[in-house]
Amino acid sequence: MSKLAIFGGEKVRKTKFPPYLPIGEEELEEVTEVFRSHVFSRFLGCWHEDFFGGPQVRSLEEEWAKFFGVRHAVAVNSATSALYCAVGAIGTEPFDEIIVSPYTMSASATAPLIYNAIPVFADVEADCFCLDVASVEEKITDRTRAIIVVDIFGQPYDSDGINELARKHNLKVIEDCAQAPYARYGDKFAGTLGDIGIFSLNYHKHIHCGEGGIIVTDDAELANKLRLIRNHAEAVVESKGETDLVNMVGFNYRMTEMEAAVARRQLRKLPQLVEERRKNVRYLEKELAKIPCLTMPNVRNGADHVYYAHALKFDEAIAGVHRNKFVEAVKAELTPMELRETEGIKIGCGYAKPLYLQPMFQKQIAYGSRGFPWSASGRRYDYSLGVCPVTEDLHFNSLITHEYMLPGVTKDDLDDIVATFVKVWENVGEIRG
Ligand SMILES: *Cc1c(COP(=O)(O)O)cnc(C)c1O
Repeated sequence: MSKLAIFGGEKVRKTKFPPYLPIGEEELEEVTEVFRSHVFSRFLGCWHEDFFGGPQVRSLEEEWAKFFGVRHAVAVNSATSALYCAVGAIGTEPFDEIIVSPYTMSASATAPLIYNAIPVFADVEADCFCLDVASVEEKITDRTRAIIVVDIFGQPYDSDGINELARKHNLKVIEDCAQAPYARYGDKFAGTLGDIGIFSLNYHKHIHCGEGGIIVTDDAELANKLRLIRNHAEAVVESKGETDLVNMVGFNYRMTEMEAAVARRQLRKLPQLVEERRKNVRYLEKELAKIPCLTMPNVRNGADHVYYAHALKFDEAIAGVHRNKFVEAVKAELTPMELRETEGIKIGCGYAKPLYLQPMFQKQIAYGSRGFPWSASGRRYDYSLGVCPVTEDLHFNSLITHEYMLPGVTKDDLDDIVATFVKVWENVGEIRG
């Protein structure tokens, strides 16, 4: 038993952890070719062959669709743009309600507001942290148009339960799969379980091209609308002969050729990169599972997990100390990851703060200063503390997330993570007082 670093003892770990470097020489070769071709983008914002973009973008879309077993893939410049496109493409009307998760990256809940629709928060599951079917059902009203589900931390949402509910109430399901590429539920990939799925190619994700996003769907009409919204719809519809003008205000959400070239090569690496995460998690869990105050992440029946983050449940009653104090002691023993030093120690108390607690929801101010769209909706919406008790308990008391299982870590690195948790557990009495 050695003294905890938080009380001046020696840290378990003194050197930084290795960086996560999924992009390498293979991508450099692809980018060099694009660079030499001088085709950096080939999008035209009018009805023309180039409305669909350049050769890299089109190949990426074809390969992505084939890989995930889906009819259409549309490349955009971020998963945030992808979510915005999806909300527009399903024909969202002002003051429609869209049910969202409070425990995710903010864009999954902001997306409805882009079309002046109202985000309504349902609670998450205590064991898998995705939207809870019963809670979603409680939030359905005559104005509900869609559900944005999130495959949080790397495992698919409860698509049996949620999809059935959606069918019953005639709702669209938009699946935010930014954190779960290559996860499966039954014989389908996450991302293809709803009406529209979105992926992220941002540098924090399993595979990336710096910034980027992909939207997938089996529905040709939705794919058409997604492409229009991506690329100046309003300037395209007339010559294209579109008569349905719903949400045909376009944006520029286009991906560049170099990003697409990187993304194409990255896709081929995805299975291996996921396998390395799984291997690291298996190794960690063999030891961490022995610590009585920790519960390893639950994997949904029939699903598998790709571990965007490793999410542990912490039991305060067993530890005799609040999670925050435990995590503070764990952090003191560790060091950051190379190239992400500015993000600090990659262990968190929970994840993102429940999104309805953001000022935008608390003050209900989005567009202009007079509370639009809420104030004009004719209904009242409650975003107060207590709306989603499971999420609040996870965030404020019982969830720990970390990223020290990213590919690139060695067995010694993982041993240091285990040693850290063991050390803090064995000395937990010291932090009680
Ligand atoms: C990263 C992320 C996004 C946004 O992705 P960007 O490509 O950065 O816009 C959306 N949803 C979830 C769950 C994410 O993790």
